[in-house]
Amino acid sequence: MTKNYGPEYIRAIAPYQAGKPIAEVAREFGLNEANIIKLASNENPFGVPESAKQAMADAVAELGRYPDANGFDLKGALSKRYDVPADWITLGNGSNDILEIAAHALVERGQSIVYSQYSFAIYALAAQGVGAQHVVTPAKAYGHDLAAMLAAIRDDTRLVFIANPNNPTGTFIPAAEIEDFLAKVPSHVVVVLDEAYNEFLAPQDQFESAEWVKKYPNLLVSRTFSKAYGLAGLRVGFAIAQPALTDLLNRVRQPFNVNSLAQAAAIAALNDKDFLQKGAENNTAGYQQYVAAFDKLGLQYVPSFGNFVLVKVGDDAGAGARVNLSLLKQGVIVRPVGGYGLPEWLRVSIGLPEENEAFIEALTVALAE
Ligand SMILES: *Cc1c(COP(=O)(O)O)cnc(C)c1O
Repeated sequence: MTKNYGPEYIRAIAPYQAGKPIAEVAREFGLNEANIIKLASNENPFGVPESAKQAMADAVAELGRYPDANGFDLKGALSKRYDVPADWITLGNGSNDILEIAAHALVERGQSIVYSQYSFAIYALAAQGVGAQHVVTPAKAYGHDLAAMLAAIRDDTRLVFIANPNNPTGTFIPAAEIEDFLAKVPSHVVVVLDEAYNEFLAPQDQFESAEWVKKYPNLLVSRTFSKAYGLAGLRVGFAIAQPALTDLLNRVRQPFNVNSLAQAAAIAALNDKDFLQKGAENNTAGYQQYVAAFDKLGLQYVPSFGNFVLVKVGDDAGAGARVNLSLLKQGVIVRPVGGYGLPEWLRVSIGLPEENEAFIEALTVALAE
């Protein structure tokens, strides 16, 4: 008889479904890797900034040593950029690490975590990983319903996760609504504001959430170098919170959770304004390209504030999987979102103009089949 190892709440975890790697799709469908287009994981279509490559090359010589466990230089650069003291910053092995660390540091088994339907998959995993109760509020127009989230907070709630912009739906909550929410959340609840796509916001939507951290001791802002900064493979993210929270996060995180190359590359990327600018412009143009094509194809989509769009490719529950399979056969990798409860939809990242065009052509073919 097989023994059941581990606690029940760990055995109940459904593993995270990552975007398919290019090599895997090539093997599975007998395609040439060079002809495959991956628009599945909201990665930066320009890849790694040259500035970051140079910084990593310079850092290679020191790889025989452990990384700086305190990330002195990177925290210094972030402290300057966000105008907060360096000891308000926690580095993470990607911001997924930050989200998990927050759950470990702040939530006891049996206590509850509040998050929204159709929000980032990691929230459910982080909650499950600590044996927390999930309080999932229904989405409003595919985004967060902050009033419902506020009302859902219980005495045993310790954490609220908010993705802004949200993944996989691309919805956005304006600054005023978040501030209003923060002002009303009970002080025993920590709000994790996950801003993985913040850098893609248009100037009129931008706000500096680090400023709110100064006002709200129960706010933790999470950011990443994986999207706009083009460093997804390096795994580096960070949290900004007041010292009482930061101190707790630092007790839970692995001492060397961010490696030396990642620290060096992140500093370079943070200061690479041209790279960010180029990415933002490409994103705006690519979004228009998608929206025009979806309108032409008569497809519903959720207006997006990130570097991806959620598009409805059919009316039956098999639509997402069916169109996805056709796209894969044509060498285009996007993200099915059936696991999010959106089986009629696909999420597609914004790539370079020619990649977007290839996706649109493949989608047109898929829909005609
Ligand atoms: C991509 C993403 C992240 C970032 O993940 P990393 O671990 O930093 O690569 C975090 N939150 C959301 C909502 C995301 O979409």
